[in-house]
Amino acid sequence: MIEALAEIDRKLFGIFAERKSADREIDEKKQELLALREKGLQLETLLDQKRKTARKEEHALRDEEVKIQKRREEASNFSNHKVQQTVERELSHSEDQLRKREETVLALLDEVDQLAVRVAAQADQKEKLQAFAERLSIGMFEAYEAFDEREVRLKKERASLFEGFEGDAIWKDAVTLYDRAREKYPNGPLARLVNDSCAACYEKLRPQLALEVRFKGKVVRCSGCGKLVIPEATSGVEKSE
Ligand SMILES: [Zn+2]
Repeated sequence: MIEALAEIDRKLFGIFAERKSADREIDEKKQELLALREKGLQLETLLDQKRKTARKEEHALRDEEVKIQKRREEASNFSNHKVQQTVERELSHSEDQLRKREETVLALLDEVDQLAVRVAAQADQKEKLQAFAERLSIGMFEAYEAFDEREVRLKKERASLFEGFEGDAIWKDAVTLYDRAREKYPNGPLARLVNDSCAACYEKLRPQLALEVRFKGKVVRCSGCGKLVIPEATSGVEKSE
């Protein structure tokens, strides 16, 4: 009887653990998605900034070019040849500077292109993850329903074990011992008796007690580990799964 009870509780504990791991999985995906979203936003902001800078710089360059052109036209009207030459030197220096700035802008535009590719890839990844998370949560919803169904069924089964034993002192004592052992070992409060010893901690039972466990089905608490000692496999229920 205690074995049947322990078997049901073991399954209930399994459901609890499965549910928890499902929760964790969903949570992880949510976090991942959030992080991806955050990263995506940062990238987009960066792209926006760089684009603006590049555009501004392009305008400035065009203005500068126009200015140089104008100065050159003005210089061509100068009557003084020497002044003309000086201005021309200045202008060609300005043009050199301009070329350098143009190179910088080109590099920046390159960077903008690369960044745009990254942003697109990132958006794609985000979309995929989102779709996956949605599928996962649908799948999980079904899993949760199955957990609930199994849980209800097991709880009914568990309650039925107590039917007809309401006034049974031996059963009541056994359940009390069992509950106490379960507080300490939620997932395995029982231990087999092997060669008169507890299979969990190898503590030897007194021979009389071992006999009572084996032949009278007495429920005994192991003085070593606190688990309930049960006879060597009898039903075969325990070892399966
Ligand atoms: Zn023990």
